Amino acid sequence: MSVLESTESAGFGRFGLDEALMRGIDAAGFETPWPIQFEAIPAGLDGRDVLGLAQTGTGKTAAFALPLLERLLEVRGKGPRALVLAPTRELATQIADEIRMLSKFTPLRVATVYGGVSMRSQVNAMRQRPEIVVGCPGRVLDLLQQGVLRLGQIDALVLDEADHMFDMGFLKDVRRILAALPARRQNLLFSATMPKEIRRLADELLMDPQVVELADATPAATIDHALYSVAEGRKRDLLEHVLTRGDCDSAIVFMRTKHRARRLADQLSKAGHRAVGLQGNMSQGQRDRAMSGFRSRRYDILVATDIAARGIDVSGVSHVINFDVPNTPEAYTHRIGRTGRAEREGVACTFVTGSDRGWVLATERMIGASIPRRRVEGFESDASEEPERRRSQRGNAIPARVGAQRQSRRRHSSGRRRGRRRAG
Ligand code: AMP
Repeated sequence: MSVLESTESAGFGRFGLDEALMRGIDAAGFETPWPIQFEAIPAGLDGRDVLGLAQTGTGKTAAFALPLLERLLEVRGKGPRALVLAPTRELATQIADEIRMLSKFTPLRVATVYGGVSMRSQVNAMRQRPEIVVGCPGRVLDLLQQGVLRLGQIDALVLDEADHMFDMGFLKDVRRILAALPARRQNLLFSATMPKEIRRLADELLMDPQVVELADATPAATIDHALYSVAEGRKRDLLEHVLTRGDCDSAIVFMRTKHRARRLADQLSKAGHRAVGLQGNMSQGQRDRAMSGFRSRRYDILVATDIAARGIDVSGVSHVINFDVPNTPEAYTHRIGRTGRAEREGVACTFVTGSDRGWVLATERMIGASIPRRRVEGFESDASEEPERRRSQRGNAIPARVGAQRQSRRRHSSGRRRGRRRAG
């Protein structure tokens, strides 16, 4: 059987993609399109705008990259022709890697641009006029203002993790970049949540978009998540307990501040764990080494802040541990989405103290379900639980996968929602 036939029979053949892309898909080991790809690829190929309400881990990169690559192959021209904006350098690198993997058998070229590293190599890369540029808004704007990056030929724009761009204060830069793009173009916007600023941006940007909604605020069904009530001073011991209880192969531990992340990574290393920090005070080289060390399993534990770790796709993360609760309820879904990826099972533990009570209520309201409580003997601190909740939890020591039911309901009702939620 030829490569083409094998992929075709398994599902990607239905999209009628160029043979070079089919070879890339096959080499990447993708057998069947995932739900977001089923919906977004045909729309993208038709040149339609797309609004993807989906988290990283759902296959959204290939969902926008494949139609983009196909269109670039069909109509050749001077680059850059497609611009992908992402909020962090790590996410930009990850997107570019995935695009390179899928376009391996095509002549198309991808370049990444982001701050924190010297401009020289990025300026040289821009001179080669690559077809696709993947970048963070700040550096894209710098290169644009210097006249190094020319955006006059862009006919497709992707905004990835738009909600995170907003959280990081990038919307102003994004709007400046939008103003420099040709008016006639295809726009694809992906966001895990829809704060009102992103809704407004989507309404302005997208014309009659295909809306693909996979998961909104609900954690993936493959994540078994629970709250652990603990006093602040005992978090470190509880962490040790979770890390060493046998089912933890690889963990991301989330901290509130850069300083706390650095200190905990040091403490864990001194205690004999293979741990590394990932936080915004590290140089780009240190961050890259931490990520590649974690990916290659040289480290089992990544101690990270939100800014550093969002959108990161590392397969095989068995545990996400929220040592400190995130700043917002939305960030909860993002953080725990680092595990349970690519349809694998994952565990997410959140340590809560008495002062996190408001956060627990707001988060449960957002995800529309209560997060199961778990007790570890010797660590119980009842401070964060309401009396009624404590009573009702006693007969229910094993928590359910709260996301499972809601998630499958959403998947099945995506067609109905599409009609209702169309923006533009
Ligand atoms: P993303 O949501 O784009 O970050 O994708 C998550 C991971 O799933 C990446 O490692 C992709 O390479 C992988 N992936 C995407 N689509 C498929 C597919 N159809 N089959 C297998 N793996 C996939």
